[in-house]
Amino acid sequence: MADHRNIDGGKDNMAGQGSLLSNATLQIVPAVPLVNGFDYLAPPGDPPRRGSIVMVPLGQRLVPGIVLGPGGDEVPYHKLKAVTSVARLAPLEPAFVDFIEKMANWTMAPLGSIAKMVLSQPKALLPPPLQTVYRLPDLLEDHTKLTKARQRVTALLQDVGSLPSPDIQKLAGVSGSVITTMAQQGLLHSEQIAADPPVMLPRLDIDGAELTEDQEAAAAVLRAAIGNGYSAFLLDGVTGSGKTEVYFEAVRAALARNQQILILLPEIALTASWRERFTLRFGVAPTEWHSDLGEAGKRRAWRAVQRGDARVVVGARSALFLPFASLGLIVVDEEHEHAFKQEDQVIYHARDMAVLRARLEGCPIVLASATPSLESWFNSGMTGEPQRYQRLLLAHRVKAATMPEIIGIDLRATPPERGRWLAPPLVEAVQARLDAGEQSLLFLNRRGYAPLTLCGLCGDQVTCPNCDSWMVAHRLKGRMRCHHCGHEARPTTHCQSCGGEDSMRACGPGVERLAEEVLLRFPDARFAVLSSDTVTTPQASEVFFKSVIDGEVDIIIGTQMAAKGHHFPNLTLVGIVDADLGLAGGDLRAAERSFQMMMQVAGRAGRESRPGVAMLQTTQIANPVMTALLSGQRDAFLDSEVAARQAAAMPPFSRLAALILSAPDEQRLHEASRALALSKPHFEGVDIFGPTAAPLSFLRGKYRARVLVRAKKTVDIQTVIRSWVENVKLPSSVRLHIDIDPYSFL
Ligand code: ADP
Ligand code: ZN
Repeated sequence: MADHRNIDGGKDNMAGQGSLLSNATLQIVPAVPLVNGFDYLAPPGDPPRRGSIVMVPLGQRLVPGIVLGPGGDEVPYHKLKAVTSVARLAPLEPAFVDFIEKMANWTMAPLGSIAKMVLSQPKALLPPPLQTVYRLPDLLEDHTKLTKARQRVTALLQDVGSLPSPDIQKLAGVSGSVITTMAQQGLLHSEQIAADPPVMLPRLDIDGAELTEDQEAAAAVLRAAIGNGYSAFLLDGVTGSGKTEVYFEAVRAALARNQQILILLPEIALTASWRERFTLRFGVAPTEWHSDLGEAGKRRAWRAVQRGDARVVVGARSALFLPFASLGLIVVDEEHEHAFKQEDQVIYHARDMAVLRARLEGCPIVLASATPSLESWFNSGMTGEPQRYQRLLLAHRVKAATMPEIIGIDLRATPPERGRWLAPPLVEAVQARLDAGEQSLLFLNRRGYAPLTLCGLCGDQVTCPNCDSWMVAHRLKGRMRCHHCGHEARPTTHCQSCGGEDSMRACGPGVERLAEEVLLRFPDARFAVLSSDTVTTPQASEVFFKSVIDGEVDIIIGTQMAAKGHHFPNLTLVGIVDADLGLAGGDLRAAERSFQMMMQVAGRAGRESRPGVAMLQTTQIANPVMTALLSGQRDAFLDSEVAARQAAAMPPFSRLAALILSAPDEQRLHEASRALALSKPHFEGVDIFGPTAAPLSFLRGKYRARVLVRAKKTVDIQTVIRSWVENVKLPSSVRLHIDIDPYSFL
């Protein structure tokens, strides 16, 4: 790494090395996954503060790191390496450093893995790149004697002030040498300026919609909370009740106090329409932070957040690790979304960590949802527990819009024809919408053509060589694809197992197969498939949503991508093709997740004055999830789920953690499992289940075993696990992942 010297802009800090070393030591966490803090010798002079960003040697490399505080004295000085430079950046805020430490402690992730998420943009630690611009000298000579080309340059710069050479060349139609010669002759002055454009400040003088009484009541509570320390709110409002308008009021109040605001959204696909609304309301676009942002964009955003210039940041869960200078409000929109749980590397739930950060920063946090998570419902005291979040209720849709009517279609009474998936009542309803010039959404949360392909002769199933799972047929792409590891193969018509010819059959529908049926049944309708295979970038989703709003599509066939956040004024029918789909699998949250997804997708219907209908096709019409949806008893459903969790002593009535062992070699995995089993601790109030083979016992080429630890709420589950695994020696090829509060049980 050659960059490190620029970080402090000079050699002065390097001078201390090798000569007199200061005696101070510092505890520093390098931004490198899987390491924890190390002691280093402080550079000469005033020691860097907690939160300072420094460059330190680690192995053969120089890496950025964060100063946590003074070091210990266990390691003799001469064995310590020294900090090589200190970044010319304000140290991270104390509350943020506390957050990094507390989060590591909670998730049991190594500090370095979290520091790596914080310092994810090494270039942001360097001064911004400089750019040469040209302007006219203060004393302008008579320029009528200049050549025509030179006159054009002069005229241009008289208008605009200063510009970089390529812009002048383009706008004045001159070559680069004209500009260089003019500069040499003193006809132009050159200057070095930072290339980053300034961040525009949001405007506070634009009035939002006139709030309804409910909205105003909620907004007033939030406004009053701004600037008054930590507080947490559950903004619970049906889809279309104007939650966004309400939290915009809180954003405005925080802006008025010169604070920064962080808004977390579950998916980038959502940000296009959201950004448009924000821009209308505040006159400028928010600063964005997500994985699709280029490196330069990320560097600029990181710096702007750190300087405090980026006032409103909207982003995916990783925005939680930005170095805000004065955070005054956090909003987590669609707080129930499982996309907030990160399942790889550092395993964490962004909503829960956002609450932690708000508490440490001492600012309010708003969790918004039409279908609150069971945890937030519980935390807002709705089941008689102590109230941790204040609930703000928006019970009605704004405008004339009413909630959609939800109708169940019992597939046992009115099944579709063989080989078809849409039952007669749903077909009729779609036809009626087509006749009326209104739009329909057919929802099926399954990508591709068919989830399973098998041989009609011997029953052999097409499975992934790297995983314990079916290969999904994708006919549009002409491929078979594993949805777990991404493995692809060419489809074959004859069986690999028994050699049968033309014997392979597709089983069950995916959205592509549904599209086939739509084409057959409604040949004149214009339809479009919305899934992560057909709409892959934020730009593409913007184009897609615009075409729907412009009325270019009659029938949308969509996966969960269609369930969220979008507002289609002319959509009046939602058909849930397989309402039973999410109930299988039997994990802790299957019913809750299914319910939320179907509520959300039903909420897409009838958002404006025309009433909407949602129809759900099910073979389990008496299932509690269906009865709750059909009778509109959301609160009763949540209460019964909470009661079920209590009866089973599951979270939030207990604490849960999963330990996942994985290894490329089955034998090694067995050895590791045995070692872990042999040293199983016995603690009062702690149950340990496993190790046993994971439901997906082979995934991405690795064998897997799982342990579930359940503890009473009074037990510090992290300490229990730490004391256990610290004493187990695992073979180096075996990885152990710890998932506190697991959401996935695969
Ligand atoms: P939610 O986030 O609760 O689903 P939104 O904030 O998206 O609801 O609001 C739904 C629609 O109603 C949006 O088009 C929004 O602009 C509009 N809206 C919200 N509040 C008002 C209001 N007070 N007056 C008029 N329109 C409103
Ligand atoms: Zn696979």
